Amino acid sequence: MTEIVIQLAYLFAAFLFITALRALGRPDSARRGMQLAALGMAVAVAATLFHARIVSYEWIAVGAAVGAVAGYPLGMWVPMTAMPQRIALSHAFGALAATLVGVGEYANGFLSGATLARTTVAALGLEVLFGGVTVTGSLIAFGKLQGILPGRPLIFRGQNALNIVLLAVSCCCLVWVIVYPSHVQVFSAMVTLAVLVGVLFVLPVGGADMPVVVSLLNSYAGLAAVATGFAIDNNILIIVGALDGLSGFILAIAMSKAMNRSFTNVLFGAFGSADTNMAVTAAAGGEMTPTTVEDAALRLAYAERVIMVPGYGLAVSQAQHQMRELGDLIEKRGGDVRYAIHPVAGRMPGHMNVLLAEAGVPYDKLIDMDEINERFVETDVAVVVGANDVINPAARTNPASPIFGMPILQVDDAKSVLVLKRGKGRGFSGVENDLFVDPKTSMLFGDARQSLLELGLQVKEA
Ligand code: NAP
Repeated sequence: MTEIVIQLAYLFAAFLFITALRALGRPDSARRGMQLAALGMAVAVAATLFHARIVSYEWIAVGAAVGAVAGYPLGMWVPMTAMPQRIALSHAFGALAATLVGVGEYANGFLSGATLARTTVAALGLEVLFGGVTVTGSLIAFGKLQGILPGRPLIFRGQNALNIVLLAVSCCCLVWVIVYPSHVQVFSAMVTLAVLVGVLFVLPVGGADMPVVVSLLNSYAGLAAVATGFAIDNNILIIVGALDGLSGFILAIAMSKAMNRSFTNVLFGAFGSADTNMAVTAAAGGEMTPTTVEDAALRLAYAERVIMVPGYGLAVSQAQHQMRELGDLIEKRGGDVRYAIHPVAGRMPGHMNVLLAEAGVPYDKLIDMDEINERFVETDVAVVVGANDVINPAARTNPASPIFGMPILQVDDAKSVLVLKRGKGRGFSGVENDLFVDPKTSMLFGDARQSLLELGLQVKEA
C-alpha cells in the first residue's frame, strides 16, 4: 500500500516538474515555475522518506542539516553575476552524490558476497562514469569562473587525442565490469579515469565558453541521476534525471547558437586562447565622444522612442532599479521606452530578464532580440548600459572577428546611441567595439548605477 502511495506521489512530482519547465519558458510565469519545481521536489523528498529501504533517519537529518547550512548562503548571498560558478558548484555536489551512491551500491553488493546482476553493474558503471566526469569537470569550471584557476584555455599538445583515448579506455572498463562484475580493480580504474577525464575535458575550454560547458555538465549530472534511478530502482530519479539531462543539453546548444559557436568548437576549439588573434581583429581606431549627464539627460527627456540595452555591466553595478526608474521618468514625459533582451547578455541565459523583472519592468516591455532589432531604425536614443559584445557591429561586418556571425542587438541602426560604461574596457570576448567610436555614439563614463541615478535626477528637472 505504502509503495503505491509513494509511486503516486512520484507521478504527481513528475507532473509538477514538467509543468514547472513549461512555466519557466516565459518571464511572466517563471517565478511560478520555480515555485512548482520546489513543490515537486518537496513532494518527491517527502515520499522517499516513507521508503522501506531507509535504514537511518538520523543520518538523513544530519545530511539535510548540513545541506541547508551550505545551501542557504549559496542561494541567498551569491550575487547574480556569480551564478554560473554557483551552478557549477551545485552540479559538482549533485554528481558527487550520484558517484558516491554508485560506488557505495557496488561496494555493498561486492562485500555482501551476493552476485551483482550485470544490469545493475551497467547502471552503476554509467552512474560513476557520468558522475565522476561531472564532479571534477564542474570543479574546474567553478575554479575558472571564480578566478581561482586561469580563465584562459590550458592546452598541451595531443590533448584532444589523450582525452579521447582516456574516454575510450574508461568505456572499455565499463564493458569489462559488466561482463565480470566482481573485478573491483577495473571498477576502481573506471572511477579514477572518469575523474581524470573531467579535469582534462574542461581545462582546454576558455572562460568565455564556460557557461556552455556548465550546461553540458548539467546534462551529464542528469544522466548520472538517471543511471542512479535504474541502479537503486527509483522512478523519480529516472524522470528528474532525464528532464535535467535533456534540458541541460538543449540549453548548451541554445547558448552555442546565440554565440554563433558550434558545439565541437566550444569543446575542442579553445576559444579565446590567442589574445594576438583578437588584437589583429580589433578594428576600432577612432576617438570616443564623451558626453555629460546634463547633455545626455536633455536628449532622453525629449526623445520619443528610447530603447534600453542592458548588458553584463548593468548586472555588475546592480543598476536594474535605476534603469527602470529612468525608463519610468522618460515615459512620464511622453516617451516610449522598451528594453532589449539579448539571449546571452550578462553571464547566463535569461540574466537580463531576471534582473529587469526583479526591478519591476513590465514583461511586455522586455523585447527579445529578433523583435526589437526591427525597432532600432525608428529609435531616437538607444541607451546601452554595460553591454559590449552583444552590440558589437563587428559580429556582422568583420569576418575576421572572433565573434563574427554572433547575432547581435542592432543598436547601430538607432538615430543616436548613448553608452554608459566605466571606461574603455573590452567585452567578455576581448574584442574592440567600433560602435563606441561611431560619430552618433556618445559615451557617458562612470559606474552604471551612478550614471543612471544622475540621469534620472536630471531628466526629472528637464
Ligand atoms: P560584455 O561583453 O561582457 O561587456 C560588459 C561591459 O560592461 C564591459 O565592456 C565593461 O566596460 C562594462 N562594465 C563592467 N562593469 C561596469 C559597471 N559597473 N558599470 C558600467 N559598465 C560596466 O557584456 P555583454 O554585452 O552583456 O556580453 C556578454 C558576453 O558574455 C558575451 O560575449 C557572451 O557571449 C558572453 N557569455 C554570455 C553567456 C550567457 O549565458 N549570458 C554565457 C557565456 C558567455 P568597462 O570596463 O569599460 O566598464
